[in-house]
Amino acid sequence: MKKIGILGAGQLAQMLAQAAKPIGLTTLCFADSDNYSAASDSEIFVGKLSDFNALTAFAKQVNVITLENENIPEAVIDHLSEFVEVMPPKKALLVAQDRLFEKQMFEELDIPCASNAVVDSQADLENVASGFGFKGILKTRRLGYDGKGQHWIRSEADVTGGVDQLQNQPAILEGFVSFDSECSQIAARNRAGEVVFYPLMLNEHVSGILRRTLCPSPDQSLSGLAQQFTKRILEHLDYVGVLTVEFFVEGDQLIANEIAPRVHNSGHATIEATNCSQFENHCRAVADMPLVQPEIIQSTEMINVIGEWENTSGFDQVHDYNKSPRAGRKLGHLIRSL
Ligand code: AMP
Repeated sequence: MKKIGILGAGQLAQMLAQAAKPIGLTTLCFADSDNYSAASDSEIFVGKLSDFNALTAFAKQVNVITLENENIPEAVIDHLSEFVEVMPPKKALLVAQDRLFEKQMFEELDIPCASNAVVDSQADLENVASGFGFKGILKTRRLGYDGKGQHWIRSEADVTGGVDQLQNQPAILEGFVSFDSECSQIAARNRAGEVVFYPLMLNEHVSGILRRTLCPSPDQSLSGLAQQFTKRILEHLDYVGVLTVEFFVEGDQLIANEIAPRVHNSGHATIEATNCSQFENHCRAVADMPLVQPEIIQSTEMINVIGEWENTSGFDQVHDYNKSPRAGRKLGHLIRSL
């Protein structure tokens, strides 16, 4: 039996662990305490990412290592890789950790993305902002998620002090995209290079945080294009595991926003909606098991519970991540058949 090591023990690790068990896999999550969501379904290895002896001991207990968060320091990946394979590959993590590298990859692969410019200082911002018509989003290159690390430029006045708003971290200015909707393409690839795709998901964000996903999106007209772009990225990165590409939809155009080299919030409904969830296919890919072609068995709506619990009546499933409430924190998600 294979044991998958997972860096992190949050809700994504929890759902990976839940998917691993029925296909004969076990999991060991690496986290700084056992007070995390995944503790209900997985063994936890308590250690710090900065403690290389702990990482060695962890790596020696598992057959392969994967992760639930792309922001793992490169030195940690290098160290773990001395003992056991880390999937998805380092190249994918390095691209996903930095919005500039991500944009450069999209451009290199001829995948449309928002116009962008490097902003290392307030002077840089002042130089480039007029070229964007004083409309855009200043985003930190690293460690932004759920709308964090972003400063919206809506007029010339927002340029003043803009870099300060992001604590002077290296950033990019991104052109504003007047999208009609947002969708995501989730795919899994194995070591043999076989790829399976989930249907496009339709996503709605509130204040930069995913609030609602329809699985599948009622509009699949751009799914061929989304698959083409995603396959290009998977092959470029020599990828193994589940990868998500988030897109803006503008007319009949797809504009890539970002990639997630892991299972993704917009794929949670695949547990109820498909014959093989994103979590199971990720486990299969990293454990070198055959992938399953996803089929929709029930159209489903997913609502994220953010900050505080809400009325769950009318939903078929409540997924509770066992977290204490905090503003902006994802506490669970709700599932309703459509
Ligand atoms: P991100 O953290 O980059 O995924 O951004 C979170 C959300 O902010 C996205 O899902 C969009 O709803 C919005 N957003 C991000 N970038 C842009 C953009 N360039 N133009 C318009 N909306 C954006």
